Amino acid sequence: MLNEYVYCPRLFFYEWVEGVFAHSSDTVSGSLRHEVVDARTDGLPGPEDVEGLTLKARAVTLSSEIHRLIAKMDLVEVSDGAVAPIDYKVGRPKDGASGPEAWPADRAQLCAQALVLRDNGYECREAIAYYHATKQRVRVAIDEPLVSETVAALDAARRLAEHGRIPAPLQDSPKCPRCSLSGICLPDETAAALAWQEEETGDQLLLFSEEFLHVPGPLASSPERDLRRLVPARDDERPLYVTGYGLTVGKSGEVLEVRDKKQLIQEARIKDVCQLNVFGTVHVTSAVIEALCFAEKPIAHFSMGGWFYGLTQGLGLKNVFLRRSQFEQADDEAFCIRAARAFITSKIRNQRTLLLRNHIEPPPIALARLKTLAASAAECDSLESLLGVEGTAARVYFEHFPGMLKAENCDGSMAFDLEHRNRRPPRDPVNAMLSLAYAFLTRDLTIICHAIGFDPFMGFYHQLRFGRPALALDLMEEFRPLIADSAVITAINTRMVTADCFVRTGSAVSLDKRGRTGLIRAYEQRMDALVTHPLFGYRVSYRRILEIQARMLARVVTGEVPRYAGFETR
Ligand code: SF4
Repeated sequence: MLNEYVYCPRLFFYEWVEGVFAHSSDTVSGSLRHEVVDARTDGLPGPEDVEGLTLKARAVTLSSEIHRLIAKMDLVEVSDGAVAPIDYKVGRPKDGASGPEAWPADRAQLCAQALVLRDNGYECREAIAYYHATKQRVRVAIDEPLVSETVAALDAARRLAEHGRIPAPLQDSPKCPRCSLSGICLPDETAAALAWQEEETGDQLLLFSEEFLHVPGPLASSPERDLRRLVPARDDERPLYVTGYGLTVGKSGEVLEVRDKKQLIQEARIKDVCQLNVFGTVHVTSAVIEALCFAEKPIAHFSMGGWFYGLTQGLGLKNVFLRRSQFEQADDEAFCIRAARAFITSKIRNQRTLLLRNHIEPPPIALARLKTLAASAAECDSLESLLGVEGTAARVYFEHFPGMLKAENCDGSMAFDLEHRNRRPPRDPVNAMLSLAYAFLTRDLTIICHAIGFDPFMGFYHQLRFGRPALALDLMEEFRPLIADSAVITAINTRMVTADCFVRTGSAVSLDKRGRTGLIRAYEQRMDALVTHPLFGYRVSYRRILEIQARMLARVVTGEVPRYAGFETR
């Protein structure tokens, strides 16, 4: 706890106040090393019995009421009647003027351990950090200046936890690329969002007590400089889709196995899968449910027609702070309108961009109309007026949607057409594809909302309705054209889905297995496509962008960043 606070107060807040934790290669190898060290525990003789002894006690846990601390020590060395705690570190020591030195966070942690030992009656004059990367021991003298610094850091950490507001991220710090929470914290993106707001208002916004800003100087970095991309551009894990009648998903060891009766038809290692999607009557064994819940990988359930109706997942994140703020903001009409304006303005601009890029003959009147409607959306002062603007824009956009579909029949007629958007049930092939693609997007944003700690059912634009993931629907507005519509257009124009991939039941139209597979392929390709974030300037996949936007919305909801900026492509 103290180590994290001294390394970065924001990291401390995430891990110790919000309970957020993520593994990096450093934390994994650190935990493995501690597992080895902790496997053997030896008793530490009482303080009155250590005189004349020389020994090492492993995995010692002691507490101090004076300092309100519990110390778990890897090793305590006893010699000459005194004790010295030893802590194992994965990395290398700091290069000091006169040789290797312990890092400030490690010095504070070791000092806290020494204080606990002293409070239990032991004499403790020094502590030792063992750095595995260089295999070096670095001694730390437990002197008065270090004790004062450590006690001050402890007090500050406790005040921060009580204060209940997350501190600003470090600025341009070399610590961030090594931090396991960089993909959650988004330090540069958060700082840049604050900088833009300052530019707009001309004010220095102090959202947090200066005590917790941690760094002197301007609050945020300049928006002109290139942001570091601290998150991987793409995920290594992929969704697994299982579609068909009577299939079973079981597991053997760490591998998921899809079987048709007894015949194995597909395999995937659990570590390569980010979510399991099952369509229709697919049986998932309890062993698979247990393994995926433990691995925090959700199972999304779809009807055979593609209706997304459920999610099975583990306990996940318990970030009640974000949900509390979300519920408060959802009751604030002004906040809801501001957020909704950003979602819808970006959606209309993205619809216009899609027409501009893909229409066989971009319609100038419709483009001008969408531009005007986007400007009107940005000015709307009520959710009702915004709904009206959004509806008008949708009519203009879908009226020209067929111009983006270029697959022809043998006789030269167009293979697909669309008169207007219809759903529940969709009554033509294009609407059937759009509905399924929107269901995939709803699923992805529902999962992301859960992962971040949002309640996906409490939205700001979409109003409450039983079973409706309103926040996921809010967040997907700006991505409908860019991801779902674009995937449908690609699937049709590249013939991944053809006119004979549909089944009709009365007036309802749905995709058959071949059509579903084709659309899934187009959708996943789109999610995997790299795109430049227009505000942050780096290239990441759409799958990452969805998460980044949801995390930026979380910053706005908690008051850390004042304004949500929708995602728009040029
Ligand atoms: S990414 Fe940087 S600012 Fe964020 S928690 Fe980690 S060290 Fe702190």
